[in-house]
Amino acid sequence: MEHPGNLFVVAAPSGAGKSSLVKALRSFDARVYPSVSHTTRAPRGQEKHGREYFFASEQEFDAMVANNAFVEWANVHGKRYGTSKKGIQDRLANGEDVLLEIDYQGALQVRESFPQAVLIFILPPSWEELRSRLENRGEDAPEVIELRMKNAEEEMAQVGKFDFVIINELFESALFDLKAIIHAQRLKYASQRRLRGDVFDSLNLS
Ligand code: GDP
Ligand code: ADP
Ligand code: 5GP
Repeated sequence: MEHPGNLFVVAAPSGAGKSSLVKALRSFDARVYPSVSHTTRAPRGQEKHGREYFFASEQEFDAMVANNAFVEWANVHGKRYGTSKKGIQDRLANGEDVLLEIDYQGALQVRESFPQAVLIFILPPSWEELRSRLENRGEDAPEVIELRMKNAEEEMAQVGKFDFVIINELFESALFDLKAIIHAQRLKYASQRRLRGDVFDSLNLS
């Protein structure tokens, strides 16, 4: 792709604040398109098909795997989650920025297909805070919270493989960090050339 959009991949253990940060980012920055994943887990209270996720049966998910429809997919907390090719390839080819909120296994798979992807890991400030956020969110049963806390250890051990790390202690500060990463990426030559071609042309620059 000659002028692809930027691909941002955000991973974090469940409860670190990934969805809240991405949602807040979107309210400032409509130019970053969040990809909607497919999952075999059941919808939570307010979740709507096609908005938070495309909720798929095991059979539907199997069929997508067989059809090679995913850029990546992984087993996370006993359910399957995947990013469809259809959802992101056209946008990137059009020069749009795409953001994936996925687990670390998926993030590392995405890097294989898109070496230019920017991998961002969000850490909670402590174990105690992670647990209290999962409990206060009030969306998951106690045994689900235990599983997520147990898996967080393995997930956080992968942080060194990511390009950027955000510690979500003060929400506003973590949001500022996320904006800064995205902003810096858009200032790279390839992006500026694409976004501000008028200036390059008027300066007779290639
Ligand atoms: P953008 O990427 O185009 O949005 O530009 P910036 O990366 O400069 O981010 C601008 C946003 O960050 C605005 O909402 C500012 O109010 C906010 N901001 C700027 N400086 C700070 C700071 O020191 N702390 C926090 N929390 N927010 C800041
Ligand atoms: P994730 O998408 O990573 O599972 P969420 O965005 O759902 O996490 O956040 C988990 C819970 O923690 C939510 O109830 C959210 O409101 C809260 N939360 C997120 N960031 C902070 C923060 N910096 N301080 C306090 N609570 C937070
Ligand atoms: P939740 O069920 O809390 O929404 O998400 C659980 C985990 O699945 C999170 O770590 C989330 O990032 C991950 N996840 C969501 N969508 C995808 C996806 O498309 N691919 C992968 N690999 N993980 C995903």
